[in-house]
Amino acid sequence: MLGNLGKSLTNTMKKLAGMTIIDEKTIKEVVKDIQRALIQSDVNINLVLKLSKRIEDRSLNEKPPKGITPREHVITIVYDEMVNLLGKEPHELEITDKPYKIMFLGLQGSGKTTTIGKVCRFLQKKGFSPAVVCTDTWRPAAYEQLKQLTEEMQIQLYGDPDNKDAVDLAKKGLKTFKSKKIIIFDTAGRHKEEKDLLNEMETLSEVINPNESMLVIDGTIGQQASEQAKAFSNATNVGSIIITKLDGSAKGGGALSAVAEIGAPIKFIGTGERLDDFEIFDPERFISRLLGMGDIKSLIEKAEEVVDEDLANETMNAMLSGKFTLKDMKNQFDMMNKMGPMKQLMNMIPGLGGNIPKEASQMTEDKINGYKIIMSSMSKYEMENPKAIKQSRVIRIAKGAGVRNEDVKELLKYYNNTKRAMKGMGKRNMGGGSMNRLM
Ligand code: GDP
Repeated sequence: MLGNLGKSLTNTMKKLAGMTIIDEKTIKEVVKDIQRALIQSDVNINLVLKLSKRIEDRSLNEKPPKGITPREHVITIVYDEMVNLLGKEPHELEITDKPYKIMFLGLQGSGKTTTIGKVCRFLQKKGFSPAVVCTDTWRPAAYEQLKQLTEEMQIQLYGDPDNKDAVDLAKKGLKTFKSKKIIIFDTAGRHKEEKDLLNEMETLSEVINPNESMLVIDGTIGQQASEQAKAFSNATNVGSIIITKLDGSAKGGGALSAVAEIGAPIKFIGTGERLDDFEIFDPERFISRLLGMGDIKSLIEKAEEVVDEDLANETMNAMLSGKFTLKDMKNQFDMMNKMGPMKQLMNMIPGLGGNIPKEASQMTEDKINGYKIIMSSMSKYEMENPKAIKQSRVIRIAKGAGVRNEDVKELLKYYNNTKRAMKGMGKRNMGGGSMNRLM
């Protein structure tokens, strides 16, 4: 669905998910990519500019909420702004009055007749039995097509191929079905001139006084969608939109523009020729699909792993160069908590996989957490200068952490052993050099 728009936007979002630095330059680059994708997909240019300006302004000025990286934040803003364009919630077809009159509008070929069948099927599944009135006097086969469609579904139809007066047909249809819960009016999709068609819609709308006018728009028509939507909504009060043919290679951007143009919500989308190829339109799901959000989520996670890897490398460098402090050890513990045992962490560093110090590989999570509590009672100076931790400091730290002096000493012993083991290992494996030589 929406192949092109989806693909280029997904690529932009992937690129964004892979960026480690988000600054003004990268944001502007991303916004340019989004603009390009939208324009190529036939989204109205004014809309593109408005949308991308909002995305850029918010990305540059809003601070990411706690726990959200700048990159995720920009992705969320793009998602948010696109969803806002379509209205957040899906819009139900709510059958209120009786009879509930739905007037269908749309140009010939838009898929109006097929869609009437789909809506009837949808309503039948909900337990309603709608009736249909054919007021299309222009297309010779309109009545026949509806007859065939409604007969299959055992739906009542009113029409008269010999009557060329659409308004009269509407009046008679209303009378015929006045006791029905739902009446659906099919209208013409073509006239000699567009002006005549729109005039007829205006008059019909006055006569039928519909509870809802649904405009059917072909999802493949691009920019024309906006003009169509505007023309129909000037003549009648368009209450909702149905976009058809979103199964093919539809660019879909035109449809999005149409919605923004007249402000009526999309209620359904058509995704094929069969009666069941029909979905309630859910803006959030639609945009998620369009942006490939599923992929992006896993990409963000992957990118975060890379960041962890960087931190792991940094810590490893400190370890191997002998500059390993308690602060580095705490970093190491944080990573271990996040990523599992030391073994796994070491496996991420080429060349170290098999050479894990025994103490390190035997660390349990409980033990790590115990050590972390003790370290939280240490000062910054102590964390960076473990050698300075003599007896008096040990007593103070133990008291602060609510543990025995021996526990603090055990931690220091573990630290010293690890430091020694790492240093030796660094020499053995890398000739004492730093990790960078391996990278
Ligand atoms: P109308 O002139 O507006 O009444 O349009 P029709 O209902 O006759 O549909 C025109 C053509 O579009 C037909 O060939 C339909 O099968 C086709 N069509 C309608 N809706 C869809 C859709 O959602 N997907 C696809 N692929 N084709 C559709």
